[in-house]
Amino acid sequence: MKKSIFFLLLLCFLFLCSCDQAPKKYSAQSFSYFDTVTTIVGYAENRESFDAVCAEIFAELEKYHRLFTIYESYDGVENLHTLNEKRTIQADDAIVEMLLYGKEMYALTDGAVNIAMGSVLSLWHDYREKGDALPPKELLTEAAFHMDISDLLIDAETGKVSLLDPEMRLDVGAIAKGFAAEMTARSLEEKGIFGYLVNLGGNVRTLGKRADGMPWNVGIEDPLSENLLATLLLSGESLVTSGSYQRYYTVEGKRYHHIIDPETLMPSEGYLSVSVVCNHSAKADALSTALFCMDFETGLLLVESLSDVEAIWLFPDGTTKTSKGFQKFLA
Ligand code: AMP
Ligand code: MG
Repeated sequence: MKKSIFFLLLLCFLFLCSCDQAPKKYSAQSFSYFDTVTTIVGYAENRESFDAVCAEIFAELEKYHRLFTIYESYDGVENLHTLNEKRTIQADDAIVEMLLYGKEMYALTDGAVNIAMGSVLSLWHDYREKGDALPPKELLTEAAFHMDISDLLIDAETGKVSLLDPEMRLDVGAIAKGFAAEMTARSLEEKGIFGYLVNLGGNVRTLGKRADGMPWNVGIEDPLSENLLATLLLSGESLVTSGSYQRYYTVEGKRYHHIIDPETLMPSEGYLSVSVVCNHSAKADALSTALFCMDFETGLLLVESLSDVEAIWLFPDGTTKTSKGFQKFLA
């Protein structure tokens, strides 16, 4: 009898100890990368080990931020800002890979997402920063002569990258966050780190499931209400939203957002948002921007032709449409 009470107590003790060591949920934020807020959520035994993982994630993001930014240069770094200025650089492997991916996404989307569209996008960027007028049509039309992606030359062997058209500029805003999130997540996963979620300004990448074995609940914002548009269950996938409410300015009472239709050179008008679920964050990022610039039928055909991609479109009247397999992610 005494023996069994002893074992019972021992079991209780072991159970309590294991409860104490159960991973706790932590979160951290940074405003230092890709001109947006990065949030990390994860489960760890204590704050110290969570912070150690965050430090690795932030170091990776810092590396990609410095390479992919078109707004700043850094001593000793040949980045995309340098490329836009100098026209030829000896590029880091990550730049080569990301630009090749940009070309692949251009081909996949029939040009709806075009990283060589910087001449047009920089006009929109500059006028949005000033905030009181639209870029004149003549300037946009002139800039559009310089967005032929075949003028972006990438030598994957030597790492030499050149812009053949002297007026062409790159803008990788549509894919760089997704690419950085994907590369960062993969480098952690290779070290056996799972149970984290990285949200790079709305570009969500989950690293496996939560530490308690459950999928992550990730919400899609509804710009028309306080409620969420949908909550998805994700276990390693990415969810990326392109939305007209994310970055915009107002001229004479009308809003002009940051996703520009390469055909019209104006903000694309069909949707309030398009969200894409995919197991590759850069693909989700590229496709959410591209779908935003396509009519629904063309976009749906594209999504249905890709076995690893699902999407939800939010229309200006508040209605939604989804691809066939989207439902399986709903919480
Ligand atoms: P996202 O938030 O991923 O949809 O990307 C929007 C950003 O990508 C903008 O701020 C621009 O820098 C850039 N962009 C906008 N429209 C396009 C487009 N059609 N193709 C490529 N990049 C674009
Ligand atoms: Mg995008």
